[in-house]
Amino acid sequence: MRCDKTTEQRALIAAPADLLLTVTAMAAVPTEQLLAWCPSCHSQTLARQRADARERTRHEADSHTLFDL
Ligand SMILES: [Zn+2]
Repeated sequence: MRCDKTTEQRALIAAPADLLLTVTAMAAVPTEQLLAWCPSCHSQTLARQRADARERTRHEADSHTLFDL
């Protein structure tokens, strides 16, 4: 996955596809699995993944509540 409109751009960020990994987990990702992100794709994707993670956490919390009563 590489951003078409920014292939000319020099400031690309190397990061794994899963931007929510911890720093330690990210360091363990092999270099060939890193993606070249442009800053705008990186921040958009990070925001989307954080929103998804929040949504998942909320659903999990909802289902756990039934059993915790
Ligand atoms: Zn981009």
